[in-house]
Amino acid sequence: MKFNKLRGNSDIMTETTTHRQVQMPLANDLYNIDSLLSEEERMVRDTVRKFVNERVLPIIGEHFEAGTFPRGLIPEIAELGLFGMHLEGYGCAGLSAVCYGLACQELEAGDSGLRSFVSVQGSLAMFPIWSYGSEEQKQRWLPRMAQGEVIGCFGLTEPDSGSDPGSMRTTARRDGDSFVLNGTKMWITNGGIADLAVVWARTEDGIRGFLVERGTPGFTTSDVHHKLSLRASVTSELHFEDCHIPAENMLPNIRGLRGPLSCLDEARYGIAWGATGAARACYEVALDYAKTRIQFNRPIGSFQLVQQKLAIMATELVKAQLLALQLGRNKDEGKLHPVQISIAKRNNVREALKTAREARSVLGANGITLEYPISRHSNNLESVYTYEGTDDIHTLVIGQAITGLSAFS
Ligand SMILES: Cc1cc2nc3c(=O)[nH]c(=O)nc-3n(C[C@H](O)[C@H](O)[C@H](O)COP(=O)(O)OP(=O)(O)OC[C@H]3O[C@@H](n4cnc5c(N)ncnc54)[C@H](O)[C@@H]3O)c2cc1C
Repeated sequence: MKFNKLRGNSDIMTETTTHRQVQMPLANDLYNIDSLLSEEERMVRDTVRKFVNERVLPIIGEHFEAGTFPRGLIPEIAELGLFGMHLEGYGCAGLSAVCYGLACQELEAGDSGLRSFVSVQGSLAMFPIWSYGSEEQKQRWLPRMAQGEVIGCFGLTEPDSGSDPGSMRTTARRDGDSFVLNGTKMWITNGGIADLAVVWARTEDGIRGFLVERGTPGFTTSDVHHKLSLRASVTSELHFEDCHIPAENMLPNIRGLRGPLSCLDEARYGIAWGATGAARACYEVALDYAKTRIQFNRPIGSFQLVQQKLAIMATELVKAQLLALQLGRNKDEGKLHPVQISIAKRNNVREALKTAREARSVLGANGITLEYPISRHSNNLESVYTYEGTDDIHTLVIGQAITGLSAFS
């Protein structure tokens, strides 16, 4: 789709406001958010958008249908510098939080599975090593992870421990120069294709993070099949049965739930941006369709009910993008509070899901096929709504922050 085709042409849209004609902004940037971005930020956004348009969109529907992750894209994603792009040093791009957010936005306009892949690699696998690892761990893993030569995953959730990770049962028992891991991690993105798992386990010393290499005896994975969401993403179980790992594989500089929760904050930040990409993709398709689909001898976009749907989608998109951008500015200035991440993750995913469902209805029967991306996005967003803190859990985080009262248990 050409973006200049999205410019509105109604006279009503060019009313005078302050004695001069104000040009109708682009229908996919109604608040000129583009003008709030630096040249570097626009360059990152446009580069990732081009990659998604040229390399991802032509193949992602087939991967979604087949339930496979497009692994062939990994070297290209690495070449673009997207793995750990907001981290400094160790071969990482060291770009701003806003640049990272914009990249997530564009990746998720392609598919939430692709954004999840990049989020997990950068925010959930590389970030804990970068933040809490020994110098030796950083030197050993981060440059190869930035190059996409080593793929990581993040094992926190368990079959009986989801929203309440403090109830985890996986243990790591000290045995001389080793730790012995026992337990199961569930719903782990990239698990089946990861070379390195960052695993959180209970020790005598509280919850600690461990680096477990694929091929370590006692460590196996099995993929989750029959998913109806995030189908172009690998989701797996990690099994540990008397799995001995060297004691130096423990992340030395973090103890307690603060470790995994700080990683989740990083990833949720990217999700808040990513959801705007999925919403934009659905809105653009619905808008285009509404202008060209004829029923009752008129484009369906001329009907008030259809315009109401499009107007709500456009408004929620603008709001979500502004929320994400201010979130990013706060992060770049070191002023980000976790409750702001919860507000943005909750709002932007919730509204993206509503947008996807409304957009689907605009396309009628065509909306349910893979020929259009909308149902794929809608199904994907069901996972995004649940992972990295469910919508409910972020509601409780916000409620606790504004009342000072916990409603978690
Ligand atoms: C596709 C996919 C990929 C994932 N990738 C990863 C990954 O890479 N690594 C990882 O560790 N995990 C991953 N997860 C797991 C994800 O983070 C969990 O699913 C999520 O934390 C919710 O846990 P749960 O599914 O066990 O639901 P539960 O915690 O059992 O919640 C079930 C329902 O109860 C509600 N609920 C729970 N507690 C409360 C409460 N106190 N008050 C009100 N309502 C409550 C929830 O909001 C939800 O609606 C992934 C999940 C999916 C679907």
